[in-house]
Amino acid sequence: MSAPASVFPMLEPRLPSVSKPIQYVGGELNSTVKDWDCAPEGETVRWALMYPDAYEVGLPNQGVQILYEVLNERDWIVAERTYAVWPDMEQVMREAGIPQFTVDAHRPIKAFDVFGLSFSTELGYTNMLNALDLAGIPLHSADRTDEDPIVLAGGHAAFNPEPIADFLDAAVLGDGEEVVLAISEVVRDWKAEGCPGGRDEVLRRLAVSGNIYVPRFYDVTYAADGTIEAVVPNRPGIPFRVRKHTLMDLDAWPYPAKPLVPLAETVHERFSVEIFRGCTRGCRFCQAGMITRPVRERSIKTIGDMVENGIRKSGFEEVGLLSLSSADHTEIGDVAKGLADRYEGSNVSLSLPSTRVDAFNITLANEFSRNGRRSGLTFAPEGGSERMRKVINKMVTEEDLIRTVATAYSHGWRQVKLYFMVGLPTETDEDVLQVAELAKKVIAKGREVSGRNDIRCTVSIGGFVPKPHTPFQWAAQLDHETTDERLKKLRDTVRDDKKYGRAIGFRYHDGKPGIVEGLLSRGDRRVGRIIETVWRDGGRFDGWSEHFSYDRWVGAAEQALAGTGVDLDWFTTRERDHDEVLPWDHLDSGLDKDWLWADWEDALAAADGADIEVEDCRWTPCYDCGVCPEMGTEIQIGPTGQKLLPLSVV
Ligand code: SF4
Repeated sequence: MSAPASVFPMLEPRLPSVSKPIQYVGGELNSTVKDWDCAPEGETVRWALMYPDAYEVGLPNQGVQILYEVLNERDWIVAERTYAVWPDMEQVMREAGIPQFTVDAHRPIKAFDVFGLSFSTELGYTNMLNALDLAGIPLHSADRTDEDPIVLAGGHAAFNPEPIADFLDAAVLGDGEEVVLAISEVVRDWKAEGCPGGRDEVLRRLAVSGNIYVPRFYDVTYAADGTIEAVVPNRPGIPFRVRKHTLMDLDAWPYPAKPLVPLAETVHERFSVEIFRGCTRGCRFCQAGMITRPVRERSIKTIGDMVENGIRKSGFEEVGLLSLSSADHTEIGDVAKGLADRYEGSNVSLSLPSTRVDAFNITLANEFSRNGRRSGLTFAPEGGSERMRKVINKMVTEEDLIRTVATAYSHGWRQVKLYFMVGLPTETDEDVLQVAELAKKVIAKGREVSGRNDIRCTVSIGGFVPKPHTPFQWAAQLDHETTDERLKKLRDTVRDDKKYGRAIGFRYHDGKPGIVEGLLSRGDRRVGRIIETVWRDGGRFDGWSEHFSYDRWVGAAEQALAGTGVDLDWFTTRERDHDEVLPWDHLDSGLDKDWLWADWEDALAAADGADIEVEDCRWTPCYDCGVCPEMGTEIQIGPTGQKLLPLSVV
């Protein structure tokens, strides 16, 4: 195939008319542009990778950066990146006939073999439709021809891709590093054979592997009450369940090794190293923790090497140590000390997103602030009352929290941020009002131990959205009106407090976006029509409050679900029962459904006062959640006993 023409000559003269034109230009440090034909005739496999949000959010995304590098390291693969274009650029592109393009070589997306999208949130779905449409790729998988790329989804939202099933050719669950190469090999072999059987055949080859979900090979039937009757493969050789991928040796995959340095302003401007993957703390609301099990640590040596290499290759001055709960790494103390020693006196600063409520985090934060900058401290008790924290299995007592913040304030911190959720199962107004009580106690303690009056505590509140593959997947989501009432009561309680109110910051969002996220998270294939209706009605960038329109989603749901017997509430505020077939039951995260159900029942029992705690299987015996035997994996933690050596100055 001859190389497609770059769209840049059409784009360039129009750039001055759009906002932040630099985001469409490409050429970032460590970006890659390869020959279109880098392998022998017909054997190059080409990927367009998209993070379906604006450049400023999409560029720092670790998942896309890692896959971009892993793919481009193969001399027979071309991988380029594309991001969602802002509405002003969309208008320019539509007027001038410029298709969705990659920022690397400005090639049209339609010319690639695979169009891979990474969804960390479901609110990017309308951006996917917009990109497909701008690319000239039919929205529906059924309408695509051999000239169109394979449209493939990954990321956390792909653990229930059913709402976008009609728009996808395939989806992958879990870690992407190895599977993108496996997919590339299937596509390469099929192309080298002259594309026998066309698109249907390459999708069949992907599906029979058991590791790649191809929605068109599964039929969904519905019962009279609107629930799913069954999801079954519709042709021979297609597995009943599709398994997630688990990368077991993180040290063997030390990416990103060439971090992209953005040209335009982005949400994170630092080099991030993932220090472990997975979490087994068992917080019942946390989809990320459940679907990324088991815990697999990167060794202290690899972390040190990655930090050193990343700084050298990128010039970033800030390094973030990422994971779902970074302080849980078995050697985090040595990692913190080793890195702080290495970079003391340099302009490199280190940060650790700290969420665990214990004094250990303060020690770590102190270690990291040795190099000048003192980052904020954030703790996430998640539930306002002790009862709620038992329901969600977040075993933090009020005593723990007060003790920890006392340590922080006495070590010179003036400001602590606390993160909570509203709308958790069995929650009452009283549970939420406990947030105010906690915040007041935090301020009082801070004033007491520091002897100062300028102590602050910011309370940040997010709405709980029940997610697939968690024990709360059966729960009723709280309607947005009640969410908003509770938030208002809490805000008034904080504001009305003469003694502490002014010292407490209060951040929250209204409940409406959470309902749409809930619809997209637990929806089935019928929800696809809603997404398409919203997009046709102008819906884009639903994760941005200035672009999000709840009324548009409500109107689209009424229109698209008319005659189906189900509605927006049915998908969101309805509790599911044990026997219901859930839209994602055929997608295997490794978690045993019976274990999830038992954990859900434990949550309800805890709500009534039962003292049931699920401990972390890193430190206690396995409690059979199902993942390790099902996936052939195991918990992989240190300590390794390694230490970071000082770097020799060159
Ligand atoms: S199977 Fe056992 S060891 Fe593995 S993640 Fe589940 S509880 Fe932990």
